[in-house]
Amino acid sequence: MLRLHPYRYHRPETLDEALRLLDQHGDDAMPVAGGTDLVPNMKHGLFTPGQLVSLTRVREMRGIGVDDGTIRIGAAETLDTVARDPTVGRLIPGLAQAAGLVSGPQLRRVGTIGGNVMLDTRCTYYNQTRFWREALGYCLKKDGDICHVVPGGTRCVAAHSADTPPVLMVLDAMLELSGPDGMRQVPVNRFFTSDGVWNRRCDPRELLVAIRIPTPAAGVKVAFRKLRARNSIDFPLANVAARVGLDSEQRVSELRIVVSAMGSYPRNLGKGEDAAVGNRLTPAVINAVAGQAFRQCRPLLNITTDPEWRRAMIPVLVRRALTELAA
Ligand SMILES: Cc1cc2nc3c(=O)[nH]c(=O)nc-3n(C[C@H](O)[C@H](O)[C@H](O)COP(=O)(O)OP(=O)(O)OC[C@H]3O[C@@H](n4cnc5c(N)ncnc54)[C@H](O)[C@@H]3O)c2cc1C
Ligand code: SF4
Repeated sequence: MLRLHPYRYHRPETLDEALRLLDQHGDDAMPVAGGTDLVPNMKHGLFTPGQLVSLTRVREMRGIGVDDGTIRIGAAETLDTVARDPTVGRLIPGLAQAAGLVSGPQLRRVGTIGGNVMLDTRCTYYNQTRFWREALGYCLKKDGDICHVVPGGTRCVAAHSADTPPVLMVLDAMLELSGPDGMRQVPVNRFFTSDGVWNRRCDPRELLVAIRIPTPAAGVKVAFRKLRARNSIDFPLANVAARVGLDSEQRVSELRIVVSAMGSYPRNLGKGEDAAVGNRLTPAVINAVAGQAFRQCRPLLNITTDPEWRRAMIPVLVRRALTELAA
């Protein structure tokens, strides 16, 4: 049986109180929302905070609404709430699709969208018990100095494994972060980095308070597709978010594709746009974009599943997403 270490659990009700607790306890404290990722990681000894600061009661992190042409989603809203919310469903159904495909129903009712954006990277050699990792000699991400995925590598390439960030990226969402130096807004497109140890451009003491998404213009549509071993619960083996803008003649005016669960950050695939803009989304155009995506993606062995198969499935996911958007 995997046991948790002893810790103190705080339940602040305001953002100021949460930030003060994190500041007061420094490196010994961690924020926790639904705990669906952090608690298993604590059981594996990957994190051993003495103080957990719960975010689920923080008022400023709640609510979903439209304000000044922007959809605001509180970071502590659960994935299930986001997936079922009528405003999200009407204005940004691609996000509802992605939130509704995270893990399984029980975890979606507890896991939050904030925890999804702030999710730790994952790797076959990292998400294991302390005993397992010790037997292998640990690795760069935790307690060691080598990488088992890229022998001789000096940088961790653990997989970004969250489903909502690719959709938030094609939607040009802004992240509202609050920390010791106050509040700031960061475009989600500039938030993730290629360092698998900590792949977020923020201080560990900063909290994600809310996500702000500009209401998409008429003619802009977003779709999401995900590859996983068991549709009922698993993390992505690959995922794809696609955004297409169509003009009055159904010709593509813009196209964006973000792919993740390959390396440490969700990746914007720029080149597909060239094949699509100015054309209708015919099967031939969709195939050209899918082929381009295949050429740009090279999954690593950071997830147990065959990287060649994951790569071969990228054009399939792109084709399915674009076919949905063309319909
Ligand atoms: C069996 C299983 C299957 C899963 N499948 C998927 C899947 O298919 N797709 C997927 O995307 N995820 C999956 N997950 C991971 C997880 O359930 C989700 O990512 C969920 O959204 C995490 O949210 P949470 O509120 O539980 O985060 P927590 O576990 O509470 O926190 C996760 C991390 O984010 C930090 N954090 C949380 N909220 C904030 C905040 N507001 N500001 C700053 N830091 C914060 C925490 O400190 C922690 O480091 C799965 C988990 C399990 C156990
Ligand atoms: S990618 Fe390498 S360093 Fe990173 S968690 Fe996996 S084995 Fe460790």
